[in-house]
Amino acid sequence: MPRSADIAAQLDSVRRRITAAAQRASRSPSDITLIAVSKTFSADDVRAATSAGHLAFGENRVQEAEAKKALLEDLAIEWHLIGHLQSNKARKAVATFDWIQSVDRIDLLRRIEVAAREAGRRPRILIQADLAGEATKHGADRAALGDLVCAAAEAEDVDLRGLMIVPPYPDNPEDSRPWFRQLRGIRDELVAAGIPADRLGELSMGMSHDFDVAIEEGATIVRVGTAIFGHRDYAAEA
Ligand SMILES: *Cc1c(COP(=O)(O)O)cnc(C)c1O
Repeated sequence: MPRSADIAAQLDSVRRRITAAAQRASRSPSDITLIAVSKTFSADDVRAATSAGHLAFGENRVQEAEAKKALLEDLAIEWHLIGHLQSNKARKAVATFDWIQSVDRIDLLRRIEVAAREAGRRPRILIQADLAGEATKHGADRAALGDLVCAAAEAEDVDLRGLMIVPPYPDNPEDSRPWFRQLRGIRDELVAAGIPADRLGELSMGMSHDFDVAIEEGATIVRVGTAIFGHRDYAAEA
């Protein structure tokens, strides 16, 4: 099968899994946004996915996204930053991405606000949580999350939309369920404590191996790479 037909077929199968999971949870599939994670894959692969009707893509690195975006300027793509962002790259991130899903600390939030004001843009952001306390993972821990969400909700130059999580990689997709459930519970607590519900409407959770479970637990955004584009070859990246 040609690469483009392969990507179209995989997208189709992911969409079917989304619909099935939504139905199991008595949710509408239209309430779930699929982000195709194109990190390490080429601009041609992204273009193939757009030909199959997909326009929202996720990238981990600012520079890689910048380069791909330059080759795809003719397309109305919505770009999501889903990887760790260094504060000194906030300006480039604001210029490149429509959504920044990985806001995990106050100094980064402040840098993004300044960059957004300067650029005359208002990026949509998610606050990334790390509930497992994994040393290797980025994200605000439970103690820091509330203050960060409050600060983001009050910031005029960014548009806070919700929370994001990357739980420990599961042996079994069911292992992710408690983390997803916990994130949704924290969202509900924050809303009960006074954060306007529309500022926390999005829950970005679930990847290729566990997005079905995430949808059952309330995900509104799922980030799927491997199941659409195949396995990543990090060695070929450099
Ligand atoms: C790479 C990545 C994904 C996609 O992972 P797959 O397992 O390939 O679907 C999702 N979210 C984040 C934050 C990632 O870095």
